[in-house]
Amino acid sequence: MKKNYLLTPGPTPLPPEVMESLARPIIHHRTPQFLSIFKEVCVGLKYVFATKQDCFVFTSSGTGAMESTVVNLLSAGDTAICVNGGKFGERWGKLCQAYGVEPVIVDVEWGKAVDPKVIEEKLKNTKPAPKAVFTTLCETSTGVSTDIREIAKIVNKTDAVLVVDAVSGLGAVPCYTDEWQIDVVVSGSQKGLMIPPGLAFCTLNEKAWKLVEASKLPKFYYDYKKYKASLAKNDMPWTSAISLIVALNSAFKLLQQRGLENGFKYYEVLADSVRAAALALGLELFADASCRSNAVTSIKLPASVDGAKLVKIMRDDYGVAVAGGQEHLKGKIIRIAHMGYINEFEIVLCISCLERILSKMGHKIDLGVGVKAAQEVFIKNSL
Ligand SMILES: *Cc1c(COP(=O)(O)O)cnc(C)c1O
Repeated sequence: MKKNYLLTPGPTPLPPEVMESLARPIIHHRTPQFLSIFKEVCVGLKYVFATKQDCFVFTSSGTGAMESTVVNLLSAGDTAICVNGGKFGERWGKLCQAYGVEPVIVDVEWGKAVDPKVIEEKLKNTKPAPKAVFTTLCETSTGVSTDIREIAKIVNKTDAVLVVDAVSGLGAVPCYTDEWQIDVVVSGSQKGLMIPPGLAFCTLNEKAWKLVEASKLPKFYYDYKKYKASLAKNDMPWTSAISLIVALNSAFKLLQQRGLENGFKYYEVLADSVRAAALALGLELFADASCRSNAVTSIKLPASVDGAKLVKIMRDDYGVAVAGGQEHLKGKIIRIAHMGYINEFEIVLCISCLERILSKMGHKIDLGVGVKAAQEVFIKNSL
């Protein structure tokens, strides 16, 4: 009998209220019962996206919402700037290529954030003028946070629209769609929003709608015009993922009760505690100090430790699931999430497990120093 803990950057653990709502008997989606729930979910979406605009709900993982932006905003032959500083930024370029959009890739060293000035320069010097700039709020593969606010200021001076992949981080770190004037934001259900994978979301402003009107790429399931028409009737074009919508409503109640800002502060403390613990254990943080995300922390492992094996032992033998590194970081880093339904005692538990396995794998550490550093951060911040 083993107890399992999930500290991966998606999926994240489910609150009991969400699990309870997932277990309810299914109801039909074209009923006043369901539509009243959907209506509340739409209010919740506006809350987490910090927008007054419509938010669309898709039945897909986060990548589906990413793809929806490409097919709805662009036409074959368009150019678009894609910021690539990790696995998810890379996906924007691949999506553009799949649809005959010419990606102008801004390569960023993994662990660093894009310099907004580079985007400014690319916007000025790319011909034909880029129609969109694709970015990532929190690059989950590296634990890097992007300065979306600064980038928005730059993109807003041009005809291009700014598209932000906020699949990771929405609900956990600031992403003020309206205030920062972000044109398009997409997200998914299994990270900061604490329900299972299967829903994706998108919100867009007037400037982006002009591109939708002009877009010639083929589209059907993700056609924003269909979603907009349905939403005007408080509905969705296709059969909804009913149970997930019901679960999302429960999750939104919890997020609203706590308050978005309180959540941001809480995850910042959790992030600080993980960083402090890693440093106390003599480990280095992978992401540059200037751009560390408060949604996920990436920690470099000592060269003497097989990181893939460490992740496997933590998960399979001890029930503590964290993420390893991807691509060239395989076996070299671990990633610990602090978004959604993860609390400070799970962080302590995770750090204690990490300490024990590191120690067992021959890395010399004083047991407890990581836990102590984390606890001190909690106390200092009145948790
Ligand atoms: C998880 C994630 C996605 C979407 O992945 P799916 O597997 O399609 O849900 C996209 N971007 C980022 C930054 C992510 O962390």
